Amino acid sequence: MFKIKEIYTLAPGTLHAIIEAPLIAGKAEAGQFIIIRTSSKGERIPLTIADYDRAQGTISIVFQVLGKSTTQLAALKPGGVIPDLLGPQGNPSEMGNFGNVAVVGGGVGIAAAYPIVKSLKNAGSRIISINGFRSRDNMFWMDKMEKFSDSLLISTNDGSCGRKGFVTDVLRELLDNKGEERIDRVIAIGPAIMMKSVADLTRNYNLKTIVSLNSLMVCGMGMCGACRVTVGGKTNFTCMDGPDFDGHLVDFKELMMRLDSYKHEEKTCLEKWNRECAGGPQ
Ligand code: NAD
Repeated sequence: MFKIKEIYTLAPGTLHAIIEAPLIAGKAEAGQFIIIRTSSKGERIPLTIADYDRAQGTISIVFQVLGKSTTQLAALKPGGVIPDLLGPQGNPSEMGNFGNVAVVGGGVGIAAAYPIVKSLKNAGSRIISINGFRSRDNMFWMDKMEKFSDSLLISTNDGSCGRKGFVTDVLRELLDNKGEERIDRVIAIGPAIMMKSVADLTRNYNLKTIVSLNSLMVCGMGMCGACRVTVGGKTNFTCMDGPDFDGHLVDFKELMMRLDSYKHEEKTCLEKWNRECAGGPQ
């Protein structure tokens, strides 16, 4: 059982939970994730470790309320418990002084980008954070990002804050040298379509691009194959071989098709739960 220390809304439909998990907090590294079950019969959902505090023995997750499991998770209060929590899973992101690194985060994926920004900055890289949100109302953690970024650039789809457009518009301007800084490496974390667009863009500049994949996952230990992804023509498991991969080699078309596989079931399940069980986790 893992106790929720704090849980609160960061933006509409996006929550931050701080969970007491001292063993995981003691080992977690940037880029790793946990697998949560909100009930003993629940699905297993992978969530990136958005922050950790070894001294306090806590880890942070940031999640969107999308389906039944995340609705159940959002209903928990401080003091409530998560019955199953596995981690830290996956390989830590590569760290070092890589020169000027553009870390491109989209929406809730920015929470997953944050520990990478923090660790890369501490490892000596120069960080240009490019953060994209739908609108000003969806923004969160820009104060945290600013603390570890040498430059913080924001885009919103509707232009309500920062540059109007997508993160790729900001990145393209930097790459075309409208900004002042040469970019040595790009890391992209967010919706699959965003990561694909970033990789498509940087391919033209022959610029190393790492993406952190958000495949559907079941076991998280390389046994079930649910998170398989094709990278450079070979099957990889996101849980064991990733979650970070060379963005130029990922078969995004397949990834996006697989991400959509259970949309109908997810919708039906949430509707059934709302109809029959809402009011308490089942
Ligand atoms: P969103 O739809 O609000 O998009 C966020 C930003 O991504 C946009 O503001 C835009 O700048 C960019 N973007 C979107 N579509 C684009 C396109 N076609 N071309 C270029 N840029 C584009 O995002 P959201 O609703 O907050 O969803 C976040 C996503 O991040 C979810 O799909 C979630 O699964 C994913 N995620 C990924 C990880 C990971 O490790 N990869 C971690 C957490 C969340």
